[in-house]
Amino acid sequence: MATTTTGVLPPSFPSLKTKDDHSGLGSVKSLDFVRVSDLKRMKSRRTKMISVIRNSSSSGQDIVDLQQSSQGSPLLVPRQRYCESLHNTVRRKTRTVMVGNVALGSEHPIRIQTMTTTDTKDVSGTVQQVMKIADKGADLVRITVQGKKEADACFEIKNSLVQKNYNIPLVADIHFAPSIALRVAECFDKIRVNPGNFADRRAQFEKLIYTEEDYQKELEHIEQVFTPLVEKCKKYGRALRVGTNHGSLSDRIMSYYGDSPRGMVESAFEFARICRKLDFHNFVFSMKASNPVVMVQAYRLLVSEMYAQGWDYPLHLGVTEAGEGEDGRMKSAIGIGTLLQDGLGDTIRVSLTESPEEEIDPCRRLANLGMEASKLQSGVEPFEEKHRHYFDFQRRSGQLPVQKEGEEVDYRGALHRDGSVLMSVSLDQLKVPEKLYKSLAAKLVVGMPFKDLATVDSILLRQLPPIDDHNARLALKRLIDISMGVITPLSEQLVKPLPNAMVLVNLKQLSIGAHKLLPPGTRFVVSVRGDEQFEELEILKGVDPVMLLHDLPHVEDKVSRVHAARRLFEYLADNSLNFPVIHHIQFENGINRDDLVIGAGANAGALLVDGLGDGLLLEAPDKDFDFLRDTSFNLLQGCRMRNTKTEYVSCPSCGRTLFDLQEISAEIREKTSHLPGVSIAIMGCIVNGPGEMADADFGYVGGVPGKIDLYVGKTVVKRGIAMEHATNALIELIKENGRWVDPPTED
Ligand code: SF4
Repeated sequence: MATTTTGVLPPSFPSLKTKDDHSGLGSVKSLDFVRVSDLKRMKSRRTKMISVIRNSSSSGQDIVDLQQSSQGSPLLVPRQRYCESLHNTVRRKTRTVMVGNVALGSEHPIRIQTMTTTDTKDVSGTVQQVMKIADKGADLVRITVQGKKEADACFEIKNSLVQKNYNIPLVADIHFAPSIALRVAECFDKIRVNPGNFADRRAQFEKLIYTEEDYQKELEHIEQVFTPLVEKCKKYGRALRVGTNHGSLSDRIMSYYGDSPRGMVESAFEFARICRKLDFHNFVFSMKASNPVVMVQAYRLLVSEMYAQGWDYPLHLGVTEAGEGEDGRMKSAIGIGTLLQDGLGDTIRVSLTESPEEEIDPCRRLANLGMEASKLQSGVEPFEEKHRHYFDFQRRSGQLPVQKEGEEVDYRGALHRDGSVLMSVSLDQLKVPEKLYKSLAAKLVVGMPFKDLATVDSILLRQLPPIDDHNARLALKRLIDISMGVITPLSEQLVKPLPNAMVLVNLKQLSIGAHKLLPPGTRFVVSVRGDEQFEELEILKGVDPVMLLHDLPHVEDKVSRVHAARRLFEYLADNSLNFPVIHHIQFENGINRDDLVIGAGANAGALLVDGLGDGLLLEAPDKDFDFLRDTSFNLLQGCRMRNTKTEYVSCPSCGRTLFDLQEISAEIREKTSHLPGVSIAIMGCIVNGPGEMADADFGYVGGVPGKIDLYVGKTVVKRGIAMEHATNALIELIKENGRWVDPPTED
């Protein structure tokens, strides 16, 4: 590879040219996405336009302004919007893409799909699984096709299903195999290609330097390899998915953009341009990542760029390697739920390390949530949004409580800097203090509670114990003594005062001065809806609350919690008010557990991925306390805030899987779940390359049948370990790297 001078930009998005030489971009001739590192002269003003570039293929009307995605960010983004509306959910208008007999796009329901886990060569097993999935209500099903034998099996699978009257569209999942894609396009309805590996070799994770000529040559190669497939899809009426994965970008893309959302978009666009050049438009995009924060940014960036180009292709949404159980559901709810409420997404997959049919139910729940929100166009009245960062993560950290002179207790522990968990505690729970302390995940030393890494930070007591209930009051005092905040409503505190409690008031109580009935120095927590008139919020300026609870009761479906909270954060930012904000969600009685997880992920998660919010208070009267607490901590961890347990990135498994993922994953989790800050990838194969584990410290990966390869980061360090020794070898590796601690023991 030839060397180039620094500052030369990839000739990507060839239709976009610099307007002139006075843009501050040096000698750049052809550009689309620009790295700030190449633009040393640029100042870091958030909304400063740094370049005007024009689509030279148009009449000159498509002016694209670039700006830093946020102050100081190295990421430049088009100034275009990323969704239809910032104040309510309006589904983004797309064209219709036909996948067999199923129509995808904004004029149709959000389609749900999953992927088989059988060996594709096992025709009858795969047919059985597809039928099971179809019976559960999936609209599409994807099958991995790695070689000629599998491609041959696909014809039999399709025929067998048709004979059994199953017309569910079939999608072929292709990596590294253009000739296989060509063959299977003759019988399947849609082909998914991964732009990171369809025509490129597997990424080597080396920093390569490309000249414009090198870059152009690679693009020509891609075109040569991809064109026959596009032509075939045209001829047979097939659909395509240009499915980028964060973890499997090509060396070319990574050399220019890093493994970033920007690189993901550019990678997909390289393929989309070829489709468009061949006048083929029956395709959709996806931008998956195992990190929901990255995933959300990548899709937004993609849509923003599509708006700029005037493209209207539908979106397939998914969080990859989400894992299993509530963890997996939570990560998917955060990523997919956020985008659905932005009006983005036309088909979704919830990938779980579980049987594929288990994915259908959470998938449907999420799809319903998105369709309901867009049908009602739920939101709030229009407001100007100037402070939220759509394309990169910048946390708005509320001011943590400070100790005031003369206070006899320490309120500083009432919130945690990485995200707080608050729990609602009943009077009944106070009757058995030791059990309560354990439920709050406090450490017990001779029966006395102490705060630990994953201890609840504050509690809400809707009712105070009677003044003469000394045991209950002693239990509360012990919690306050370890700096756990105890919050109680004003009405309770007025009649049964609890020393050093924080008092919950609403705006109405503040406006009539009811809070003044309490002694001076009382600490307040204020409950707000977010859709109040801004004048009503003015009163907050005189109160100095320890925190706000954003609590929008579920009375009107048309008012959306997410948009109301964004509006509240906008007001706070405009007025330089730095109060911490806790997302307080009260679920109705009898709510299904999955709905609760998905509701919390999609509502609070949608705010936390934008860095908006300081913690959670989830209430559901008939739900188990530990479940609510764990859900809250999972949500914080899923949003990359507070790490309280080992992070797992585990693939959902498919026909390529080289070991029993569910069994091995359970075994690894059982032995390693006590390592907060450590992330472990458990992958059925290495088809997508080690980048697929981009987020993980250690990787446990199927090498060949019965053998495991172990990774530290993206580097393989032990190969071919027999399955039965692999979990222990992984633990040894964690120890060798100084990341192991022994599991805690009960005192
Ligand atoms: S990593 Fe897992 S889901 Fe992905 S191709 Fe390999 S086995 Fe299939």
